[in-house]
Amino acid sequence: MKILVINAGSSSLKYQLIDMTDESVLAKGLAERIGIDNSKLSHIPAGKERIEITADIKDHVQAVRMVIDALIHPEYGVIKDMSEISAVGHRVVHGGEKFSGSVIINDEVMEAIRANSELAPLHNPANITGIEACKSVMPNTPMVAVFDTAFHQTMPKEAYIYAIPYSAYEKYGIRRYGFHGTSHKYVALRAANLMGRPIEGLKIITCHLGNGSSIAAVKHGKSVDTSMGFTPLEGLPMGTRCGTIDPAIITFLMEKEGMTYQEINHYLNKESGVLGISGVSSDFRDLETAANEGNERARLALDIFAYSIKKYIGAYAAAMGGLDCVVFTAGIGENNPYIRQKACEGLEFLGIKIDKEKNEYTKKGKEGEISTADSTVKVLVIPTNEELMIARETKELVG
Ligand code: ADP
Repeated sequence: MKILVINAGSSSLKYQLIDMTDESVLAKGLAERIGIDNSKLSHIPAGKERIEITADIKDHVQAVRMVIDALIHPEYGVIKDMSEISAVGHRVVHGGEKFSGSVIINDEVMEAIRANSELAPLHNPANITGIEACKSVMPNTPMVAVFDTAFHQTMPKEAYIYAIPYSAYEKYGIRRYGFHGTSHKYVALRAANLMGRPIEGLKIITCHLGNGSSIAAVKHGKSVDTSMGFTPLEGLPMGTRCGTIDPAIITFLMEKEGMTYQEINHYLNKESGVLGISGVSSDFRDLETAANEGNERARLALDIFAYSIKKYIGAYAAAMGGLDCVVFTAGIGENNPYIRQKACEGLEFLGIKIDKEKNEYTKKGKEGEISTADSTVKVLVIPTNEELMIARETKELVG
């Protein structure tokens, strides 16, 4: 069975074709600048050179046609015919309260995804465009929606209701939803696998640390709390997002600086986080370079980020009543030993002991254990693979 995984943005479309017999990636690629000038498709067949096709890609339907043409191309294609694609798995950002798992897409599901657009105005409309484009090019192929929020739908009410008037939840659906669910689920399952224990018996904290970062408490295979909330702005400080701050800062600044809604939104989403603290960069590689050259605010940004992770680990160990494993994943989690070491420092009382040498050498997409042999909590680095998780869920649903 071959499954096409689609992640559609407003002007982009990422894809992977996965052969589910051995879960290998047959080809992957990206259509960029859809509907803008200089659009192109980059296509990488497994084990071969990248092909770049420059064309005027006017919309997502044309992008999907180009993807299919590339996949069946006699020279750089990987399948003979479109009919070899058994199903398409779509990443959809917001499933709201309606979806606690992946679903086969039908008219009712499309309607619900549309209704959730209000909660994710930048993402859901783009995901819908991607689904509709695939439906028009492959009308007879089953499609599945895999939601970023679904894995966190198991959170108990005390973890997801905010302490503002309850009517905000009833009227607007204001509550914690959480994001990166596909990644948290994938690495938690993989951690259980690596530990050789059923996930139903484990308490795992998964740290997805990238440009956007979130942490989840996964108790017995279910998400019971997570750091992102109503939107992906809450929780850890991120590349350019502020994470959790005193909400009174917002009204204070709006008044002092005469900021509009748009301006404060930009300030908190694009000018804050480690970029805002350091004034150097949102990229952790730049921050490390600057910190090592003596830039104190770059060092401060790194340390604030690590301290915030440490606090979530403590909080979630308490929420779960224990801890068996901490997982680090995504760009920073997979590649940044300094942050991992600093976040786990002083957590020996919880049973976390980092092996400095193993930590130092686990990077560049490598999977590995970075805790010492006598650490009662296993600390693992696991490269995330959201596309594979989407393909697995799609396979499960379409049989
Ligand atoms: P996104 O949320 O956009 O998917 P990523 O998961 O790619 O983000 O994470 C981006 C962050 O990860 C950046 O701050 C970057 O510095 C860091 N990062 C990514 N790859 C590496 C690497 N090979 N070495 C060190 N840091 C990396």
